[in-house]
Parts: sequence; C-alpha cells; structure tokens
Amino acid sequence: MLPLVALVGRPNVGKSTLFNALTRTRDALVHDEPGVTRDRHYGVCRPEGQRPFAIVDTGGMAGVDEGLAGATARQARSAAEEADLVLFVVDGREGASALDDEILAWLRKTARPTLLVVNKTDGLDARQAINDFARYGIRDAIAVSSAHRQGIDELLAEVYSRL
Ligand code: GDP
Ligand code: MG
Repeated sequence: MLPLVALVGRPNVGKSTLFNALTRTRDALVHDEPGVTRDRHYGVCRPEGQRPFAIVDTGGMAGVDEGLAGATARQARSAAEEADLVLFVVDGREGASALDDEILAWLRKTARPTLLVVNKTDGLDARQAINDFARYGIRDAIAVSSAHRQGIDELLAEVYSRL
C-alpha cells in the first residue's frame, strides 16, 4: 500500500489546486466559489525518481455550511485520521481564521504528523506569510503557491522526509 497524505483545510484555501499540482492533473476542479468543488478525492503523486504516495483531498467531503460538525465531515475526519501525513493548508493572503483554528483543534486530536502549508504566497514575503500562523505552534511550515507551482519541490522534499 502507498503511504497516504491528506490535504486538510477550510474551503477556498487552494486544496484542489495543490492536489492538481501534486498529481499533475486537472482532475480536481478548482472553483472560485467556496464549497462548490466536485473533486476527485484520491490521486497518486509520482514525482520523477521518487516513490509514489497516495493523496486525498478532504475538502470536497466537508460541507461548507456544516463546518466540522456535519455527517459528510466525518469522512474528511477519517481520511485525516488514517493519513501517514496531514498537510494542513491555509491561505497566506487571508491569514489565520476562526475556521482554521477549529480545524487545527481537531487535527491536534488526531495526533497525525502535520505539516503546515501556507498557500497563495505568490507575490508575498514567504517568511512573513508563515509568521502569520506562528501562534499555531506548528514547527514545520512551508510557503507555496499552488497556482504558480512555486515551492512544490520544497514541499515534496518535506513530505518525503516524513514518509
Ligand atoms: P479549495 O476549496 O481549498 O479546494 O480551493 P481551490 O483549489 O478550489 O482554490 C480556491 C481559489 O483559490 C481559486 O480561485 C484558485 O484559483 C485560488 N488559488 C489556489 N491556489 C492559489 C495560489 O497559489 N495563489 C493564488 N493567488 N490563488 C490561488
Ligand atoms: Mg476543493
């Protein structure tokens, strides 16, 4: 079985865009409207010369109106609980939000190894974008721009050091 990496984060932070960047597909539809994504949830990341890993985008499973309490959100939860590594994706442009706090709180309960991925940092100071999330106390953080494929190789290196 392939190692499993789960993408977790509130709607519209760019999980589907990151999924596409990692799987090099456009299978996960990216929408401008939060919560309307009809994603293909599972994919395989096969970087050249590296062993493949499975990736699950939990985003389409969590109903936007349900927050983390709804029935479909349970699927997102179990995907994260089964993952070898969770990529907690946040929006570097908007900074930390109440929903991010909520997601982090249950991520902590899953006790899965977690890497903070600060997305949408194109045109931003990467270090500053990461600093905005410093209060989350996640030591392992990386700034990326999924839409522009910036930081993806660095992200992959971080992922492989944890699988
Ligand atoms: P999801 O709801 O977390 O799956 O988010 P999506 O992948 O559907 O992206 C939501 C919106 O953010 C879309 O309009 C994307 O084009 C945009 N987006 C995603 N990644 C980036 C990025 O790296 N930079 C910028 N500027 N926009 C992004
Ligand atoms: Mg999505």
